Amino acid sequence: MADRYFPNTIPVFVDETTVQQSFPLGAKDPLLKLLHLPYRTVCQKLQRAALDLKETIVKETWVSKGGRVSDYTLYTGALGTAFLLFKAYQVTSDNNDLALCSHIIKACDSASRGSGRVTFICGQAGVYALGAVVAKHSGDEQLCHYLTKFKEIELPKDLPNELLYGRAGFLWACSFLNKNIGRDTISPTQIQAVVAEVIKSGRKLGKGRCPLMYEWHEKKYWGVAHGLAGIMHVLMDMELKADEVEDVKDTLHYMIRNHFPSGNYPSSEGSESDRLVHWCHGAPGVALTLIKAAKVFSIDEFLQAAAEAAEVVWNRGLLKRVGICHGVSGNSYVFLSLYRLTGKVEYLYKAKAFACFLHARAQTLISEGVMHGGDRPYSLFEGIGGMAYLFLDMIEPMETRFPAYEL
Ligand SMILES: [Zn+2]
Repeated sequence: MADRYFPNTIPVFVDETTVQQSFPLGAKDPLLKLLHLPYRTVCQKLQRAALDLKETIVKETWVSKGGRVSDYTLYTGALGTAFLLFKAYQVTSDNNDLALCSHIIKACDSASRGSGRVTFICGQAGVYALGAVVAKHSGDEQLCHYLTKFKEIELPKDLPNELLYGRAGFLWACSFLNKNIGRDTISPTQIQAVVAEVIKSGRKLGKGRCPLMYEWHEKKYWGVAHGLAGIMHVLMDMELKADEVEDVKDTLHYMIRNHFPSGNYPSSEGSESDRLVHWCHGAPGVALTLIKAAKVFSIDEFLQAAAEAAEVVWNRGLLKRVGICHGVSGNSYVFLSLYRLTGKVEYLYKAKAFACFLHARAQTLISEGVMHGGDRPYSLFEGIGGMAYLFLDMIEPMETRFPAYEL
C-alpha cells in the first residue's frame, strides 16, 4: 500500500506569523526552506513555475503537433491546455493566452465532431461550454455558435449517470454556463428533465439506508469520477424537491457510516480494498463532496467527516503521481476547499505544504522515475497541466476551485 504514496514527513504546521524566524538554521532541504517562506513569497515562486510549465505544455500539446488535435478532451487532451491558458489569462491578463485559448477551443470543436460524448470533462459539452465562456471574455461572436451547439446536444437514453461520461457531467456543464454566462442560459426545464432521470435511476438501485445508488460498467462506484460522490456533488447545485434533498443527505450519511476504519472511503459498494486516496476514487473526492454538503446544508456532521477524510489525505495523499485526478495536485484541493469553508490557516498551510512538495521535488522525482508523470504527461487531469493549474490557483486561496469540478 505504501508504495502508492510517499510517507508524509512534512512538519504538520509552520505558523505563518513566525515563518522566517522559525527557520531551522543550517537546513538545506529546499522543501523545508519553501515552507518557512511567507505564503505570498511562495506564491510568487509558484506563479513563475506555473507560467514556465504552461509554455512547455503549449509546446508539447499544441505547437509540436502543428495545431492538430487527436484527443480533444479536457481530461487528457487539448481542451485541458485551453483550460490552463484561460486560468493563466485570469491571473496575468495576458491577452495572448486568451487568444491562443480560443484558437485551441476552435480546433477542439472541429476534432470533437461526431464524438457523441456529452460531458464537460470528457465530452463535447466541455468544448461548447468553455468555448462560450472564453468567447464572452474575448468579446467574440463565437459565443452564439457555442451556445447553439451546446443546446443541440442530445443525451442518449442509455447514458450512465456518473461524472466523466454521464448525466452528472452534462449537468455540471449546464451549471458552469449558468454561472459564467448568466442565469438560465440553459433553461431550468431542460436541466430538470435530466435531474429527474438521475434521481429516478438512483432510486431504482438505492435501497434501505442508501436511497440513491448508481452503476457504471456493472459496478456501484462511490468515488467522484464514476460514482456517488461525483453525482451527489453535482446534484447539490440543482433545484431539488424536498424529498430529493433528503435522499442526497441520507446517501451521504450512508457513505460516512460505512467508510473504512482508516477513515478512507471504498471506491465501490462492498469493496474492502483500502488502497486509493485519489480525487477519482477514495477520501479526497468524497471530502470535496462533504465540504460542499456542509456548506449547502449547514450540517456539522458533514464538516466533521470532511475534516477526518482530509486527515487521510494528509497522511496518505502525497501520491507518486502529479496530476489532479489521481495525484498530489488534486489532493491539495481538499485543503484549499476546507480553508475556503472554514478560514482555518492549518488547511491553507497543508495546501501550501503539498504545493511546495511538488515545486521542490516533482520534476526531479519524475525524471528519476520515482514519481509517475502520467500516461499523458502534459495533460490537465493526469499530468503537469494539473500541477501548473494548482500553482496558479494558490495565488488567491479564497477563490480556488478544483478545475472543471468545483463551481
Ligand atoms: Zn484518477
